[in-house]
Amino acid sequence: MWPRPERCRVISVANQKGGVGKTTTTVNIAAALAMHGQRVLVVDLDPQGNASTALGVERDSQTRSIYHCLVEDEEMSKLAQPVPDNPNLWCAPATIDLAGAEIELVSLVAREARLKRAFAAYDTSELDYILVDCPPSLGLLTVNAMVACDEVMIPIQCEYYALEGLGQLLRNVELVQSHLNPGLAISTILLTMYDGRTRLSQQVADEVRSHFGEVVLNTVVPRSVRVSEAPSYGKSVMTYDPSSTGASAYEASAREIAHRAPTVGR
Ligand code: ADP
Ligand code: MG
Repeated sequence: MWPRPERCRVISVANQKGGVGKTTTTVNIAAALAMHGQRVLVVDLDPQGNASTALGVERDSQTRSIYHCLVEDEEMSKLAQPVPDNPNLWCAPATIDLAGAEIELVSLVAREARLKRAFAAYDTSELDYILVDCPPSLGLLTVNAMVACDEVMIPIQCEYYALEGLGQLLRNVELVQSHLNPGLAISTILLTMYDGRTRLSQQVADEVRSHFGEVVLNTVVPRSVRVSEAPSYGKSVMTYDPSSTGASAYEASAREIAHRAPTVGR
C-alpha cells in the first residue's frame, strides 16, 4: 500500500509528438498505482482509443464514451468501466467518434472547459488519481485535459529529435496557465524507451535532467519487448509480465509519483 493523496490528483499525460510513450505510460502507471491500493481512473482522450484497448475495455457502436461526455454532457460515472483483472482501476473509454470532437467542440460554450466541467460534476472523493491520456496534438482535446487537471506529466522518448517540439508544448502549458488554469504545473517528466547501450539515450537523459531538474523521475523506462507486446493481450505490462524490466520500471516510476508531494496548485 502506498500513501493516498489527500484529494484526487488529476494528471494529464501529454506530448504532441506521437509514439513517445504517452499511452504506454498512462496505462502502466495507472495499473501500478492500482496494484498498490490507489483507486485510479484512466480517461482516454485519444480518438485512437489505444489506452482503452490496452486496458481490455470492450467497445462497440453503442458504447458511451468520452466523446459523449465532452459533446453531449454525459456523466463521467455513466461511462467509466471497470478494467478486467484490475480491482481499483476504471477507464472512461474513447471511441472513434472522438475524432470529430475536435471540430464539434469549436462551436460549444466553454469549449476548453468541457472536461473540467465533467470532472466537477463527478464525485472524485472515491478516487486517488485520474490519468488523462492525451492525443498527439495540441488541439482542443489536449487543451481540455490541461484545463481539467492539476498536473502535467510529459513522457520523453530517449531518441534523436526527442526535444524537438518540447518548446511548443511548454508554451502551450504557459498559455493555459495564464488564461485558463493558473494552478496547472508540470509535475513529472518520465524518460521512456531508454536504451542503455546507446550514447544517444544517455545524452538525451542528461540534457532533459539538466534542463528540467527535479521534475524528472529518477527512474527511466527501458525499451522492452514485453512492454510493446502487452497491449495486444488487452493488458498492461504490470499484469502481462510483472517480472519484466518494463514492469519494474513502471512500478518504480509510479512509486516515485505516489511518494512525491503534489506540487503547485493544490
Ligand atoms: P504515444 O501514446 O505517445 O503515441 P505509445 O505509448 O503508443 O506512444 O508508444 C508508441 C509505441 O512504442 C507503441 O507501439 C508502444 O508499444 C511502444 N513502446 C512504448 N514504450 C515502450 C518501451 N518502454 N519499450 C518498447 N516499446 C515501447
Ligand atoms: Mg497514445
